[in-house]
Amino acid sequence: MPDMNYQGRRHKAWRDKVLRRAGYLCQECARYGRRTEATVAHHIKHADEYPELRYDVRNGRALCAACHNKEHPEKGGGHF
Ligand SMILES: [Zn+2]
Ligand SMILES: [Zn+2]
Repeated sequence: MPDMNYQGRRHKAWRDKVLRRAGYLCQECARYGRRTEATVAHHIKHADEYPELRYDVRNGRALCAACHNKEHPEKGGGHF
């Protein structure tokens, strides 16, 4: 693996902000009254279609791995 490139660092900064904003709790689980640690920042609007929103904190949702997988049934959650 190469060192983290510029995009990787930007993504990490974005992800950290999204998770911090949510108090590191999964926002989907919270809808059902569950408190689950969030580990993934998910793009609400897909970054491929909305590249300008890729690093917009408002376009991020903090999710746990299980909820994130549900957002990506097509590829099993292996998404940035
Ligand atoms: Zn969850
Ligand atoms: Zn996602």
